[in-house]
Amino acid sequence: MSLTVDGEDPLIFDLGTGLRQLGFEMPTDGSFCGTALVTHIHWDHVQGLPFFPPIHVPGARLDIYGPKQEGGSLHDVFGEFMCPPYFPVHFSELQGDVQFHDVMDDDLSIGNAKVKVRPVPHCGPTVGYRIDWDGVSVAYISDHQAPAGLNTVSDHVLELCDGVDVLIHDAQYTPAEYQQKSDWGHCTVDYAVLVAKEAAVKRLVLFHHDPGHSDDELDELLDGARCTATYFGVPEVLAAYEGLTLDILPHP
Ligand SMILES: [Zn+2]
Ligand SMILES: [Zn+2]
Repeated sequence: MSLTVDGEDPLIFDLGTGLRQLGFEMPTDGSFCGTALVTHIHWDHVQGLPFFPPIHVPGARLDIYGPKQEGGSLHDVFGEFMCPPYFPVHFSELQGDVQFHDVMDDDLSIGNAKVKVRPVPHCGPTVGYRIDWDGVSVAYISDHQAPAGLNTVSDHVLELCDGVDVLIHDAQYTPAEYQQKSDWGHCTVDYAVLVAKEAAVKRLVLFHHDPGHSDDELDELLDGARCTATYFGVPEVLAAYEGLTLDILPHP
């Protein structure tokens, strides 16, 4: 998933399997320059890096921001899983230049984008991001452990989401599934809508769907989320899918 502004280098959200497809839209002649905002290093958020064609070319550059790990820096931990025998190429052997930046509770400028990083409750060190760029604001909270009771939102998450134009948020479970997996690091669809309501978000994009849900089940969950959103006063809810593109226009 990526956020782009004409004439500026892209921001990429996490390095999951979708990165391969994104790579086909990026230059592979060594001119690629971009930034990845990684929330945490669970497999589904980092596995795409070796399959990103632009970074296999000399001259390309990728800056990777992500939470500092208990076992060492982000750089060190990437070196422990992107290496033989898990993958034949160690990340240090990539032809492009990959630079790592440890973050947790930081306010950054990346190009013309203002990027706010805050801790997010999940399993292990995890952050979320808020980007204010070219007159629009986007928050990305990919994996979010809801608290027991499902009725409070952490101050850090509220700060990231406060009044954003678009919130991309975890929406993995039904209430029944959450009861079975309440410590698996995720939340219900309705909790995502609650976060949007509490932070006065304008457009909520449901993301990180449960891989066991069918398209029909996702449509039902979306219908339910829209009912909840109407009740809560959240203006718009969408469900993310592969290939979805959103134009986000600055508010007058
Ligand atoms: Zn995770
Ligand atoms: Zn995940």
